Amino acid sequence: MRILLVNPPNCGRSIPEEQYGIDSLKLILRGEPLCLEVLAGNLDDHEVKIVDLKAEPAVYTETLVNFKPHVVGITGVTCEANTMVSLAFEAKETVKATVVVGGVHASNDPQFFNKPHIDYIVVGLGKLSFGELIAALEAGGPTDEIPGVAKTDPRNVLSYLPRTYSPSDLVEEKPPRYDLVSSYREHYILPSLGFRLGAVSAASGCPHRCSFCSIEKMTGGRYLTHSPEAVLRDIGLLGDIPVIRLVDANTFGNVDQSRELCRKIEGAGIRKNYVADVRSDTVVRHPDLFVEWKKAGLRSVIVGFEEIDDGRLKEMEKANTSSMNTEAIGILHDTGITIVGDFIISPDWDEVRFQEMRAYLEKNPVDLPMFSVLTPLPGTPLYESLKSKITLHDLDFYTLTNAVIPTKMNEKAFYENYADLMKSGHIGAKL
Ligand code: SF4
Repeated sequence: MRILLVNPPNCGRSIPEEQYGIDSLKLILRGEPLCLEVLAGNLDDHEVKIVDLKAEPAVYTETLVNFKPHVVGITGVTCEANTMVSLAFEAKETVKATVVVGGVHASNDPQFFNKPHIDYIVVGLGKLSFGELIAALEAGGPTDEIPGVAKTDPRNVLSYLPRTYSPSDLVEEKPPRYDLVSSYREHYILPSLGFRLGAVSAASGCPHRCSFCSIEKMTGGRYLTHSPEAVLRDIGLLGDIPVIRLVDANTFGNVDQSRELCRKIEGAGIRKNYVADVRSDTVVRHPDLFVEWKKAGLRSVIVGFEEIDDGRLKEMEKANTSSMNTEAIGILHDTGITIVGDFIISPDWDEVRFQEMRAYLEKNPVDLPMFSVLTPLPGTPLYESLKSKITLHDLDFYTLTNAVIPTKMNEKAFYENYADLMKSGHIGAKL
């Protein structure tokens, strides 16, 4: 079969970007669509193409017409959900393809995609289940017994068999198809430094349950790690690309395995830089692990500090403390690892909270502070607790930079403070 996998174009709307002069958060790290390369890795017997509309926004229609796919698979996050629906419509109208959607929004809010021009929704990790769906479609067999795959039925509420995710869903023996994005490689760079960047996955899911986070539904709450051998293989497949972004939600969630991976990278004599997402409590409990990783090439970590107030951290179910965050900043500075710090600004902040954040960062500087606005993403526990307060329902605005519930301050003052925090945080920032 001919299968076209689609990464949506840059989309979504940001009020601070449109009206308050800040750059889009999503442009800071521009990466390859690893999730599609991973899916393609398990489609050996088919002709597969990836179109990355973030890199090449204008080629969708001509690709549909020239490639004539039997199946079009579209991924995306919440702020891309409306665009995914438009892409699905075009695929159905232009080539009458079977249209399948997947990714973070489809996994957290599958009912959203229960629409006429979409045929299937893949919920959670799709490497194995999408392969099973393609095999069933090719054989003309039933598709309603594949766990984690929902056949749409727009006149009714979606119903499907839930999937219990396990290591077999990683189909680890089959590597991502990096070759399918080779023509886009020059687009995958660290803009601040101009380095080429490659993506590798070392783990899926997360053992934690932060209320705002949409990662749980990707694996049914499980934390699944790749073997060090598979990670090394994938790093090798990226050739001479100097910076490897470990794209996991929580790369060092299994400390023993992270240590083993680090030692195997060292042992293999691989000299590259790595960027990984870690929790501050992992840094504080295992500083030696970061010393070892620094030696192996860990250049930067992205840490979800989220808040500077313990009560707020508790409300978010972060299972962490402000003192742990502060200690981790000190350890990472001492170790020479650059810190990208994620903080969440709640729409109920007032002037005092903004001032407290500025004062905290003056005392505990991170190399690149990032600020998102607390957003109840559909499918998360936070959404359930805030849904009655939501006033901005258009998912285009779920870019994590907009207040979708009313702000406590005057809205203009809220965004001015937010934009000021972003701008001042990025003076002299490094990665
Ligand atoms: S630790 Fe990070 S990845 Fe894990 S649930 Fe919390 S925010 Fe999500």
